[in-house]
Amino acid sequence: MTAARGNDAFGMVRDRMVEEQLARRGIRDPRVLTAMRLTARHLFVEEALWPRAYGDHPLPIGQGQTISQPYMVALMTQTLEVEPEDRILEIGTGSGYQAAILSMLAAKVFTIERHGALARRAREAFDALDIHNIAIRIGDGSIGWSSYAPYNGIIVTAASPDVPGPLLEQLSPEGGRLVIPVGGQSFQQLRVITRHGEKYDTRDDVGCTFVPLVGRHGWSEDGK
Ligand code: SAM
Repeated sequence: MTAARGNDAFGMVRDRMVEEQLARRGIRDPRVLTAMRLTARHLFVEEALWPRAYGDHPLPIGQGQTISQPYMVALMTQTLEVEPEDRILEIGTGSGYQAAILSMLAAKVFTIERHGALARRAREAFDALDIHNIAIRIGDGSIGWSSYAPYNGIIVTAASPDVPGPLLEQLSPEGGRLVIPVGGQSFQQLRVITRHGEKYDTRDDVGCTFVPLVGRHGWSEDGK
């Protein structure tokens, strides 16, 4: 894990967030708790929102998109069971916060965002925090990023009507894990898929609400 990147005025607020919103609700992985304690979440939202940056809720980040609730970021990260040597693919960079958390736990993070403005702002935040193990691409993440496959873990932070086939194909056959919200546009289940060779074990976890995955293997622009 890299050096602390939370040496700022919000350190105590972050400690409280980790204790009250995460540890007390069952987030147990010490590496996930440490990453959430050290990563300056406020730097991923506009300055006017800094006072609310550590609240127990999502926040707007522009383009009609959101940075997810801290608990959901922690839960999805814990569910992904990231190992230090892993290569992780994230679909839906948004603010870049989830990718920054993953970058503390994995060797390399690949992240895709369909909105260029959000991708550029996320890149600025990574640079400001001296994070150098994240590759970011602008485009449709529902088709994955085949040039760097296979991935030990794939995390989708937008809601999909079904599991995109290319993401299954790009999972490592040796225990690769996919975490993805699957369901309708207003409510989904967090689906967890583990690949062993050509066998895919699937389980549904908690209910959740994400903005839609818009793309070839997600929803269309008009919501169909
Ligand atoms: N992980 C983000 C964070 O930490 O801030 C939050 C992601 S936000 C809930 C979902 C993001 O997925 C939005 O930024 C949205 O533009 C993006 N998105 C939706 N469909 C996409 C697609 N097909 N490919 C890439 N990004 C997509």
